[in-house]
Amino acid sequence: MCTSIMPPPKDVDPTTEQIITHLNGLDEPDIIIFTGGEPTLRPDLEELVRYVHNRFPDTPFRLLTNGRRFSYRDYTERMVAAGVDEVEVSLCGPSPEVHDVVTRTPGSFIQSLEGIRNLVSAGVHTNVRYVLHELTYKSVVDVPDLLYREAPGIGQLVVMYMDIIGNALRHRKQLIVPYRDVAPYVERAADAAVERGVPLALYHIPSCVIAPAYRHLSAGITVIERRITYPPQCERCSLRSSCCGVWKTYAKDVGTEEFVPVIEP
Ligand code: SF4
Repeated sequence: MCTSIMPPPKDVDPTTEQIITHLNGLDEPDIIIFTGGEPTLRPDLEELVRYVHNRFPDTPFRLLTNGRRFSYRDYTERMVAAGVDEVEVSLCGPSPEVHDVVTRTPGSFIQSLEGIRNLVSAGVHTNVRYVLHELTYKSVVDVPDLLYREAPGIGQLVVMYMDIIGNALRHRKQLIVPYRDVAPYVERAADAAVERGVPLALYHIPSCVIAPAYRHLSAGITVIERRITYPPQCERCSLRSSCCGVWKTYAKDVGTEEFVPVIEP
């Protein structure tokens, strides 16, 4: 678990006291994000959420989670009462056949989907995060329809290309897929999202790899800039100022030749 400006995760989770000490040192943060690992595995999460809510009542607070514990209604109710009002749930596929293979946890798809439903019905602003890599990119096409049918009322579907860190770094040979292969599926997912009325945003997908009609979906820069890079050719690109850039990890592992400057008149 970390807040938005805490150091990268370590092997050992910080204690309750360490997190509270860190929170006490924050000076008017723009946002506080609890992520992981999986924050809902912490027995003290309710206490920490309540602490954040009381200490920073006007600061947006977001929880990133796999959503599984929110499949229990009483847990959802307790967390909402503690102050959870914005959650981003990771979905790894539009079916158990994809999702549960990625998570390596049978039953996790059903639980995450139920968690999304419970959060939405509890009035929590719930975004669904779908990370693209070799095991998931083709299935993104079916995600808007799934959400339309099974979890109406989400805030937004966030489709993002993975950053090759943590477990992704360990398994990068099986997970890396070039943007040029991913792009057609992202575009089909965007069409499906429009058709189904599911709000969609694209994170970490440089505009030059997708067709012009889909570029307005890009959320721009969403991470601290030291994690991204702009290859030299970007200096000639008309979209440079609004572009999300390229993950440094991707540039190192795959290269940057596929990023071709967009020259607008
Ligand atoms: S060429 Fe560079 S700045 Fe332009 S869209 Fe591609 S990655 Fe972004």
